[in-house]
Amino acid sequence: MQLDTTEKKIEFIQKYMTAKNAATGSDVDQNANVATKNIATMAAELPKKDIIALNRELMRRKLTSIYGEEMAQSYIDDLAHHIIYKHDETSIFPYCCSISLYPFLTDGLTKIGGSSTAPQHLDSFCGSFINLMFLVAGQFAGATATPEFLTYFDHFARKDYGEDYIDHLDDVVETWQSKQVTLREKIEHYFAQIVYTINQPAGARGYQSLFWNIAYFDHDYFESIYKDFVFPDWDEPKWETTKELQKLFMKWFNNERLKNLLTFPVETANMHTTNGKYSDSEMADFFAEMWAEGASFFMYQSDSVDSLSSCCRLRNGIEDNIFSYTLGAGGIMTGSKGVITLNLNRIVQDWHHDNALSFEKEPLKIYISSIVQRVHKYLNAFNSIIWDYKNAGLLTIFDAGFIDLDKQYLTIGINGFVEGAEFLGIKVDPDNPEYQQYAKDILETIKELNITARTPKCKFNTEFVPAESLGVKNAKWDKKDGYKVPRDCYNSYFYVVEDENVDPVIKFRYQGIKFTGCCDGGSALHNNLDEHLSKAQYRALMDVAIAEGCNYFTYNIKNTICNKCGHISKHTLDKCPVCGSTDVDYGTRIIGYLKRVSAFSAARQIEEGLRAYNHLDD
Ligand SMILES: [Zn+2]
Repeated sequence: MQLDTTEKKIEFIQKYMTAKNAATGSDVDQNANVATKNIATMAAELPKKDIIALNRELMRRKLTSIYGEEMAQSYIDDLAHHIIYKHDETSIFPYCCSISLYPFLTDGLTKIGGSSTAPQHLDSFCGSFINLMFLVAGQFAGATATPEFLTYFDHFARKDYGEDYIDHLDDVVETWQSKQVTLREKIEHYFAQIVYTINQPAGARGYQSLFWNIAYFDHDYFESIYKDFVFPDWDEPKWETTKELQKLFMKWFNNERLKNLLTFPVETANMHTTNGKYSDSEMADFFAEMWAEGASFFMYQSDSVDSLSSCCRLRNGIEDNIFSYTLGAGGIMTGSKGVITLNLNRIVQDWHHDNALSFEKEPLKIYISSIVQRVHKYLNAFNSIIWDYKNAGLLTIFDAGFIDLDKQYLTIGINGFVEGAEFLGIKVDPDNPEYQQYAKDILETIKELNITARTPKCKFNTEFVPAESLGVKNAKWDKKDGYKVPRDCYNSYFYVVEDENVDPVIKFRYQGIKFTGCCDGGSALHNNLDEHLSKAQYRALMDVAIAEGCNYFTYNIKNTICNKCGHISKHTLDKCPVCGSTDVDYGTRIIGYLKRVSAFSAARQIEEGLRAYNHLDD
């Protein structure tokens, strides 16, 4: 890869100035969560190609030192041949993290370069929490998850307003400018302070806001995560009050989104199931009700409380959920250090082509294995680079105990899965044994290799990556090189996203145990619907999810945003229900998070236009 000359950079500036929005203007990193185009977003684009070249050279040197020149060259070749894609090459940071908040309660921000000492009250907790988020996000390319946020918020709320504060939300707690403020208003004010600040463009991140994920727990998850946990003052997490606080936050956030299409936090409800039923029926009913009220969140469910989805799509085995006094709840700390994604459409076509030419036929399983074994080596080298930074004392978030490098994953991403099957003439149908076998050949192979390649310093997982911009890039590269490309943006799911005929119920089968069971990481079902369902319908679909073994899902119903009066409706409409204007925009998930469709990249806007928003028949 050649460095950009000054002339090239000037050309880029000219092009950026006329681009329709920041995502389209970006040459290399179109998933960037940037809503506006300005001089700061342009400045952030300028060094990206140089950093990509730098990252490749660091990888080439590291691979050479561990495995020799041949392996280093194959990394460069695999990238150039577009069978693999290294995510976030435009940054030198690890990818994403799910942090423990425990060190924040013992040391405040002092160990990560901040000045605040440990928070003692709800007010200082909320204020310093925002600073914590900005400090942590400054050392990661992707999301920061804080699954414990509401449990800790509850701890401080009880400390300041009494163990039974949740029963006294309408009590007046202060008077402000001769207006009486209730505890509920006070708490909602804290929610607003945190959520609105985090959704602001962050100057240090090239005007991207930071990516924030939080978790809700049902009773069993809560008990499992916090079973041996105590706060530094010996207080214990309290389910009864945290449960109600979770509801309060969720309802507040859902209402707030009528005024502002707040992107973050991405919310995930973690639910335990036993014998085909939700263990905590109260929370199950509550979440169904929230969907019916238009809330937009993910649900993760499992029949053992062994894993937790906190990093928006990452399945984290809670292997060592033992409370440590220095580190907090063990199952919380995870995330992915780095992701390399396989372009399966191209890999399958290369395999098919090689087999047609050779006398001896090689099974797909074996062909995939040799690629995956190389990718494990690439990820191992990347891990070693991250460790160099850590050993040099550069990754202070890790040193301060918010997260542990050994608990984080190295991730193999999947893209073009459906397209590869289509090329082979395999009908994409959840009940087609051929399609099931195709999933096994690829995903189970990777899963098994992930286990054998594991070392104390490296653990691997697989996930269907959202591929906000990669789905478009892969299709473009493949088309250019003469491969069969059935659509301009590759799917991120086990089904064809633009298929009008896929029943919302059947989608649970596509993302059910037969398919996601082969996968050891995240794969979320995004059920696109043309209209909201009733609480009873959502509740019934939750049971379908259990029956099909679909453990991670959400719904997308396009919101209508009025460009004239600013009203946001949770429904998909042609005109504003308040002022009647037809100048409306829509909000939906680009993949993981909500965004205005007009802020998507040009190619993603076309893809969004093709998505089928299906209708549920009774
Ligand atoms: Zn309006």
